[in-house]
Amino acid sequence: MNELSTDNHKNSSSLSIKDLLKKVFFIDLIQGLFITFNYTFTKTITERYPDDEKWIPYKRFRGLHTLNRNKEGKELCVGCELCQKSCPTQCITVIPMEDKTGKGIADRIAYRWEINLLRCMFCGLCEDACPTEALKLGREYELASFSMQRQIRSKEELIKPQPIPVEFEGGVIVRATLEKGDKEIKVKPDLSVQKRWW
Ligand code: SF4
Ligand code: SF4
Repeated sequence: MNELSTDNHKNSSSLSIKDLLKKVFFIDLIQGLFITFNYTFTKTITERYPDDEKWIPYKRFRGLHTLNRNKEGKELCVGCELCQKSCPTQCITVIPMEDKTGKGIADRIAYRWEINLLRCMFCGLCEDACPTEALKLGREYELASFSMQRQIRSKEELIKPQPIPVEFEGGVIVRATLEKGDKEIKVKPDLSVQKRWW
């Protein structure tokens, strides 16, 4: 019994001397700095967003809605209100009107088409319900703004051509530049220079 307690005492005293030496010579700190120093020479895997780089999501990504035209430039939305009715959070408002000017593919277009992004959960049910493929969930995900009013997007904004072409496959990091406007700061992608993120 006495031998055992003497051994334990020896072990604990040698351990504490080791710990003491480590503290005196800042061994843990030096080890930590050494690891950090080593990392300065390895390839960076983080994305330099938003200053230099931007991630372009895959085609199937569900971001900000787009209202589309056909190849002849006619509005595909016929104001049928199916998107509004299928939306579980009731964030879409559609007011239809008759139009004989040939602006759309039918005699009925959306006089007002509006979405409240504060309530949208990007489920895609509205896209599935649209009979004319006018409504798509696009790849725009930079939706932060300085005002809540900015989160209500109108037909006029959504029907504009999108900065990323529909055919672009995505899933890449591209070079980007910042564009500062009155309402928000936009990150503009340069699709000519791409790299995979994995
Ligand atoms: S994505 Fe879902 S929540 Fe958003 S508008 Fe469409 S149906 Fe509504
Ligand atoms: S976006 Fe589609 S579903 Fe919604 S009103 Fe227009 S045509 Fe109908």
